[in-house]
Amino acid sequence: MNGTTAQTICQVCDSTDCPALIEKGDWHYRRCGNCGLVFLSPMLTDQALADLYANPDSGGTRAYFRKEASKLRRARGRVRHLSNAMDGGAKDRLFLDIGCSGGFMTQAALGAGFTAWGVDPDGDAVAHAEAHYPGATYRTGGLIEFAEEYLSQNQDLFDAAYCSEVLEHVPDANVFMAAISSLMAPGGVLYLTTPDIGHWRRPKNLLDWDVFTPPHHCLFFSMNNMRDLFSRHGLEIYKRHWAFKPGLKVLARKVGA
Ligand SMILES: [Zn+2]
Repeated sequence: MNGTTAQTICQVCDSTDCPALIEKGDWHYRRCGNCGLVFLSPMLTDQALADLYANPDSGGTRAYFRKEASKLRRARGRVRHLSNAMDGGAKDRLFLDIGCSGGFMTQAALGAGFTAWGVDPDGDAVAHAEAHYPGATYRTGGLIEFAEEYLSQNQDLFDAAYCSEVLEHVPDANVFMAAISSLMAPGGVLYLTTPDIGHWRRPKNLLDWDVFTPPHHCLFFSMNNMRDLFSRHGLEIYKRHWAFKPGLKVLARKVGA
């Protein structure tokens, strides 16, 4: 298929025992027989993915600008978890929101005392963030390019990183997590959320699950395989937040301090 690439091996545990699981429309998923990762197969190429998000009609990004007040409230709560994890608090610590959308988390991070950066491939979302929540530094683009650019120009690594509902969109979880880890200071803290395919309230039939939406959602994790993925990239999950909706919300620390 155009814009796709073969994907038959598990990204988390390298198992080749990954039989076909389910189809939705023209899209097919496999499930790892060893760790349970569910993944799009064939997988989208980076280019196909970039095209998908360059098209404003493709997938729900405009919804981000609704319910701004409640999003800011939630953002402040989540920033508190990160600032509480900092020895000495958030003041002058570096915060990065990966998939910053309209700037709600960067705004909350600034309010807590962080020096805030945000990156998002959606140029309209970044323009909204720059116009409504100045004070943070924003970049339009993907995380991989951002990491290359940032690390070539800056020595200070991020003390806190936030990545909400992004991991399920990426075609290569290892490249993505390696980039996050490379940007984080030793001892730095990551707050990450993604749908939880192992959750007790996830609809039994995947086709009934509202987030089971190919091709945007390429990867579906559960707690155990996410822990393994993180540990491959020097990140240790130390806290899991309870979630009523089928999602994983975890705090992880970069090993090394
Ligand atoms: Zn696996």
